Amino acid sequence: MTDVLSENATQNTAAAPSQSGPNLTDFVTRAANGKAADGRRDLVGLSRDQLTELLGDMGESKFRVKQMWNWIYNRGVRDIEDMTNISRKLRDRLSQDYYVGRPVLTADQKSSDDTHKWLMKFHDGNEAETVYIPDRNEDRGAVCISSQVGCTLTCKFCHTGTQLLVRNLTPGEIVSQFMVARDSYNEWPTPANGIRRLSNIVMMGMGEPLFNYENVREALKIAMDGDGISISRRRVTLSTSGVVPEIVRCGEELGVGLAISLHAPDDDLRNELMPINKKYPLKELMNACRHYPGMANSRPITMEYVMLKGVNDKPEHARALAKLVKGVHCKFNLIPFNKWPGSDYECTPTADIKRFAHTLLECGYEAPIRWPRGRDILAACGQLKSESQRQRKSRAGGCAKASGDDAANVVAAQ
Ligand code: SAH
Ligand code: SF4
Repeated sequence: MTDVLSENATQNTAAAPSQSGPNLTDFVTRAANGKAADGRRDLVGLSRDQLTELLGDMGESKFRVKQMWNWIYNRGVRDIEDMTNISRKLRDRLSQDYYVGRPVLTADQKSSDDTHKWLMKFHDGNEAETVYIPDRNEDRGAVCISSQVGCTLTCKFCHTGTQLLVRNLTPGEIVSQFMVARDSYNEWPTPANGIRRLSNIVMMGMGEPLFNYENVREALKIAMDGDGISISRRRVTLSTSGVVPEIVRCGEELGVGLAISLHAPDDDLRNELMPINKKYPLKELMNACRHYPGMANSRPITMEYVMLKGVNDKPEHARALAKLVKGVHCKFNLIPFNKWPGSDYECTPTADIKRFAHTLLECGYEAPIRWPRGRDILAACGQLKSESQRQRKSRAGGCAKASGDDAANVVAAQ
């Protein structure tokens, strides 16, 4: 995998969103989901109940809640002033204490294959990555969203795992990543005919979403609300390293698609690659998968499997995998390993990955290979981030590297 930004790729730093709206300085002072410098609070990320309470305290009816929800999440307005069917008096009162925020874009890169990546800065200066991966054949694609800045887990093949967790992202910071993507593609109001370029959400960016479950849940509830952003739960996928207690809860409360970062067919190897396995070993993980609500009906669970040369890529590993997942309605996704500076692993050669896929197929399991997407900007972004790290002791993106590929495959499968 080349580490050079291709001539076709574009890279802009500190780019402001393309639509008209508040300028960059405005974004800085009114950043997402924290209190702005002037003490005002962001409306983005409040649940419907919270918004109802807030407006109720001002003596307003539920009808107002619906109107405001529509402005923020269906029309995408970024200024209370633009909510024109709300009385001037109420707009003025709201503007005294609240605002409609967006994170600041500190980098905005587009790949030669149209994959698009943003680095977003939140109110305290922390940053996370968001990636849009358009489908190769259709006019749609997935937005890959981060749930944390950094990660507490230390999966050995993952660059993010080499960095300490900085913090969980709030519901507003999570959902606003999608809203920035929509700003960028001018996809407001929510397209009513179902045809939209930003059609899917994958929780596969930085961080472990089930270690920030409640905030992720609130953000996804906002994203899936039919009166606003309105992404169907069938078009949302959450990827986890295997936080067993939250898996079934996630299925029950959200009903979104599930992807498991499996990466090994037995506990010994998985303990070595993914320390979380010591806490939640494979037997418990497979049990949680068997009980994942909705699993039996339609959408198979996606078993993600990173191909590490000489480590987990032998035919016997494939056969052991097939045995392991018996009784789980699932398919595999084989991910060629994305190398990062200092990593101990190499990617399995393509011919061996294909052989591995074939062995799984012989055992009855589909195993498409995730060919990398947005290679040029991902590499370039790696450079950008090391720059950021030196300056800001910030994070990196082994996982984000995988995210583009992951998202592309998840969309293709839907
Ligand atoms: N923390 C969650 C979601 C983010 S990671 C999880 O672990 O599932 C998204 C995917 O990228 C995971 O399947 C992860 O295992 C994979 N991944 C991480 N580093 C990688 C790398 N260097 N090459 C290929 N895939 C990688
Ligand atoms: Fe964290 Fe997922 Fe990376 Fe593991 S693979 S370190 S859980 S982001």
